[in-house]
Amino acid sequence: MHVFTIIFLTAFALHLSIQIWLATRQIKHVRDNRHSVPAEFSAVITPRDHAKAADYTVAKQRLGVLELVFDGAVLLWLTLGGGIATIGNLAASMGLPPHWTGVAHVLGVFAFLSLLALPLGAYRTFVMERRFGFNRTTVGVFVADLLKGWLLGALLGGFMVAAVLWVMRSAGQYWWLVAWTVWMGFSLLVTWAWPRLIAPLFNKFSPLDDPALRERIDALLERCGFHASGVFVMDGSRRSSHGNAYFTGLGREKRIVFFDTLLSSLTPVQVESVLAHELAHFKLKHVPKRLIGGAAMSLAGFALLGRLSRQDWFYTALGANSHTDASALLLFILVVPAFAWVLSPFLAAWSRRHEFEADAFAARHSDGSELAHALVSMYKDNASTLTPDPLYSAFYDSHPPPSARIERLLPASGPTSRAAVAAA
Ligand SMILES: [Zn+2]
Repeated sequence: MHVFTIIFLTAFALHLSIQIWLATRQIKHVRDNRHSVPAEFSAVITPRDHAKAADYTVAKQRLGVLELVFDGAVLLWLTLGGGIATIGNLAASMGLPPHWTGVAHVLGVFAFLSLLALPLGAYRTFVMERRFGFNRTTVGVFVADLLKGWLLGALLGGFMVAAVLWVMRSAGQYWWLVAWTVWMGFSLLVTWAWPRLIAPLFNKFSPLDDPALRERIDALLERCGFHASGVFVMDGSRRSSHGNAYFTGLGREKRIVFFDTLLSSLTPVQVESVLAHELAHFKLKHVPKRLIGGAAMSLAGFALLGRLSRQDWFYTALGANSHTDASALLLFILVVPAFAWVLSPFLAAWSRRHEFEADAFAARHSDGSELAHALVSMYKDNASTLTPDPLYSAFYDSHPPPSARIERLLPASGPTSRAAVAAA
């Protein structure tokens, strides 16, 4: 057995064990707190809401563990089990020119992965989400989403894979630098085009037509010196009752999008405070920082792939019998997560710091206690757990635990008066 096979298996096993261990901790912690609503939320969150959030969290975690084990088995089959090689032979038997054989090989593996993910995805939507009253997706919408997603993935992914494989073959020793440039350009283009061309394939976006709310939002944008090309309401209720708000696009194409489900559950001043939080991610340069961080990581990734693709052991140790560019790309994409996960707690901590900063910005430019109300209302409507396991949360969560956020937004008061404020 090659030494890199052992390194890969060790990293993979360690990652899987940590994920399962954290999920088990999360399930236990949430169940242990199922009957005790934290004091600062008890005025708004009833014991029934709290128990529902606990059951929902546990159900999601259990399904998550099943998915981890299943995905782990698939990964082992694709790599050491020779699955990538098998799909490569299938692609070769199609009699395409060599370049397109490579593209078919890469897309074939991703098509295989999305087919395998289908049953659990359908179970999540139609059994689990329905059980907790969140699902509004019909079978028709689900199938249409799937087909549109596959078509889009084949077009965008096909274009990108064809470009990278072409660069790998023809751009010489520093092909990885060229490939990275193409990748960055392509991602920026897709981010820019997303709100206008791609998102409307899946949802309806209509301009916000509530004049009072619109006026409030315009005043906030003006106060913060922010330009957006429009405020839109998205028909999120078509698929689920979960609510959200986000910014999308780049430069002057930026749009503000509210889920209709969120607008129906928050008051205008709460909507304003949520928007102020989202705005903060731009004003405090979180978005460019994340873009630069992502660009640096993908550059490191391409540089590493540039080196690995020239090593014989990289292919043999991971079960690929043919040393093609397509195999190198696939092995890299599939195997990197077994090592890159060590970064995830740091990235999560970085993101949580941004979230605290955005909350503080919203408190300065809008209303902190209204944002606290809005958050509590969203926790309730989304059945988010208020009592995550501290270690689980530190490892994964992009947002700080509910209690920590509420405490910072309503600092002057003790738990009792915090509850009173939350009830107001
Ligand atoms: Zn945020």
